[in-house]
Amino acid sequence: MKTIGLIGGMSWESTALYYKWLNEGVKARLGGLHSARIAMVSVDFAEIETLQHAGDWDAAGAILARAGQSLEAAGADFILICTNTMHKVAPAVESVLSVPLLHLADGTGERLVAAGIRRVGLLGTAFTMEQDFYTGRLRERHGLDVVVPNDADRALVHRVIYEELCLGQVLDHSRERYLEVIDRLASDGCEAVILGCTEITLLVKQDDTPVPLYDTTAIHAEIALDRALIA
Ligand code: GLU
Repeated sequence: MKTIGLIGGMSWESTALYYKWLNEGVKARLGGLHSARIAMVSVDFAEIETLQHAGDWDAAGAILARAGQSLEAAGADFILICTNTMHKVAPAVESVLSVPLLHLADGTGERLVAAGIRRVGLLGTAFTMEQDFYTGRLRERHGLDVVVPNDADRALVHRVIYEELCLGQVLDHSRERYLEVIDRLASDGCEAVILGCTEITLLVKQDDTPVPLYDTTAIHAEIALDRALIA
């Protein structure tokens, strides 16, 4: 079994899911007392969030690049950045690594294409929905037609992530608002919706809606398991 390197803490609410699901996945596949080999660096999200909103992506990228180097020194065979948003700085992290970085947009894009989906909605932070690093990768590398919510819906989705989900608050009325946003994306011709923020899985489940959901936290964990357990 290979050692999975996690750059986590963004927020720890979702990193805890990665840790749990990776261990559950190894147990399901190998049985008995098997558990995942994991190395993790968990950053202080307050520091990262301040840099995000100040637009200082270079400084944030430097922090994550150092985390990646620490993981490699700790024996990680490959590395995950446990947040969609911080894939904005994936090139800075990759540039200092000699082990692979498993890019979340690629794993998600490959699943969508394999399912025959062409037009897909995207929920995430404003950075993920409005900048090119994620939508551009889905469009250019995977040929997907990516649709983001309207201005008011994007503001709502972003606010709930930072003011509720990253603080561990999972509120029914926010779930209802999210489901309305998902319905509007489906009405706009989206065949599926990407939960493109690793905390959204805490709020919205597939059972809540007939619209197919692509949960990036679950997808990232599954890709890591496949890689870790390759013979
Ligand atoms: N975990 C979230 C994501 O997947 C948001 C927190 C962050 O800004 O990193 O984008």
